[in-house]
Amino acid sequence: MEQHHIELIRQAIQLAQHNIKHALGGPFGAIIAKDGVEIASGCNSVTTGNDPTAHAEIMAIRSACQTLNTWDLKGYELYTSCEPCPMCLGAAYWAGVSKIWFSANREDASLVGFDDSDMYRELSKPIEQRTMKMSALIPDEGRALLEQWLKKPDRVEY
Ligand SMILES: [Zn+2]
Repeated sequence: MEQHHIELIRQAIQLAQHNIKHALGGPFGAIIAKDGVEIASGCNSVTTGNDPTAHAEIMAIRSACQTLNTWDLKGYELYTSCEPCPMCLGAAYWAGVSKIWFSANREDASLVGFDDSDMYRELSKPIEQRTMKMSALIPDEGRALLEQWLKKPDRVEY
């Protein structure tokens, strides 16, 4: 294990500790880095920012992309004080992050009141069995919209 990975994950934990100490949000911190060099960081600010999507990993990804002026973090690594929830894992996929390093895991998070494990279990169920009810409406109109996108010659793909 290269030392810089441990140093970066410790920094993510320190960000989370800072968040706890100053009551800035949930106990989570994250860093985006490349070759051991930090590009951006983020802390959870769900409760202070009234933003349920303001998880540390999302904040770090947003900050890194703004700093680098890109939406593609291929070649960059995400260091987080806790295993990402499904939303943040999804964001990491969308960003193309190359690897995720985490300290505490989803079970640890569940033990202190963060229901990541429940959400992961939900996602593995068929749609009809989830607690989040979902129904399709006027699917033809939604499909027509997607076809409109496909026909746009100057679309920027990602
Ligand atoms: Zn998350």
